[in-house]
Amino acid sequence: MTTISDIRAREVLDSRGNPTVEVNIGLSDGSWGRALVPSGASTGANEAVELRDGDPNRFHGRGVLKAVANVHNTIAPALFGKSAMDQRAIDDLLLELDGTSNKSNLGANAVLGVSLAAARAASTSSGLPLYEYINSLQPAPAEAGGEPMTLPVPMFNIINGGRHAENSTDFQEFMVLPLGFDTFKRAMQAGVEVYHSLMTGLRNRALGTNVGDEGGFAPPVTTNRQAVELLIEAIERAGYTPGEHCFLALDVAASELSSRPARYTLPQRETSLSSEDLVDIYDAWISDYPIISIEDGLAEDDWNSWDMMTRRLGSRVQLVGDDIYSTNPRLIEHGIERSTSNAVLVKLNQIGTVSETLDAIRMTREAGWGIVISHRSGETEDSSIADLAVGVGAGQIKAGAPVRGERTAKYNRLLLIEEQLGSDARYAGAEAYEKYMPRT
Ligand code: PGA
Ligand code: ZN
Repeated sequence: MTTISDIRAREVLDSRGNPTVEVNIGLSDGSWGRALVPSGASTGANEAVELRDGDPNRFHGRGVLKAVANVHNTIAPALFGKSAMDQRAIDDLLLELDGTSNKSNLGANAVLGVSLAAARAASTSSGLPLYEYINSLQPAPAEAGGEPMTLPVPMFNIINGGRHAENSTDFQEFMVLPLGFDTFKRAMQAGVEVYHSLMTGLRNRALGTNVGDEGGFAPPVTTNRQAVELLIEAIERAGYTPGEHCFLALDVAASELSSRPARYTLPQRETSLSSEDLVDIYDAWISDYPIISIEDGLAEDDWNSWDMMTRRLGSRVQLVGDDIYSTNPRLIEHGIERSTSNAVLVKLNQIGTVSETLDAIRMTREAGWGIVISHRSGETEDSSIADLAVGVGAGQIKAGAPVRGERTAKYNRLLLIEEQLGSDARYAGAEAYEKYMPRT
């Protein structure tokens, strides 16, 4: 039996220059696995707790030495000698050691670092690339060949606003989705060309080319609609057809706009809107533009309005729940019962273990809903989410603009995976959105 024989954690930095947790796990056969934990800014209230030291003398209280100590003092002694090849047992033990429903005891950053590093070490030990190892953890019967692996559609977030950029749009993310191509590599090229065309458009209008946390531009536009129009122009300038080669997606991150139930304030426009007003805006926009996906169109506590939004728009556009579910299987189950949305955003660190993340994905798939594997606005060079997206055949990945090392780490990993899969590689492309095609 290959067992866990070494666990080392340390405090390193994320892309915003904040401390985060790195974990290295060594196995009895000499294999190693390494994982770095990301960190959000527009975090959901139901997310697993990211443990910060709160010591004002270090990193303005944002140090993670307590989480690092929890890995060394509590987790490591319990995991030594345990089989590295049973991810579920490792994750169950982590849950037991923490003993809370939101991982506030050990910290989701400590727990995820260990869970993911263990998966990486096990994949190395089995001689499988991480995406194949993750695929083998899927519940689909092995005799059926497991869940099919696909290269996901990259959702390039090329205009950043909200909590991710100052003096930009109220809505957090304006994304370009290159669906109309046969390969990930070609789609990637289109995304990059559109990004650079957008830069030209912004320069021509003297809107500046400053960027936000995810590498997208952060122009001081006067309306959110103007941001959408800039994307349409950029797609055309790059020589592509909006609604054929490239579609659009939004992450409104509406929890950040709501201060009291079912009321939303758009600071840039100095207006206050009801849930219905916001859904009216989306309704008009999906008629006017090739918008195929809207994430967090409403706040995490506005469940009844989410149901209404999905009744009104759900046959024409993918409606993705991020904060409202926080990758928590219990909340996703509730959403499926009520038809609250038709897709789920999946972030490993919102729930904290690989096994619970796979549970969330399985439930979402069984409901026939869309799955979007996502990074965080505070990222690292860890590229595991690329393997996760391929391994579960999610069909969609959100990893920011096609710039900055912490974002391109994921996209470059996907380029390599596509090459490794050779003739078996299949780009999800428009198939991931076929329910919303043709657009009316
Ligand atoms: P976050 O943003 O990582 O700051 O939460 C990403 C998202 O809202 O999807
Ligand atoms: Zn989001």
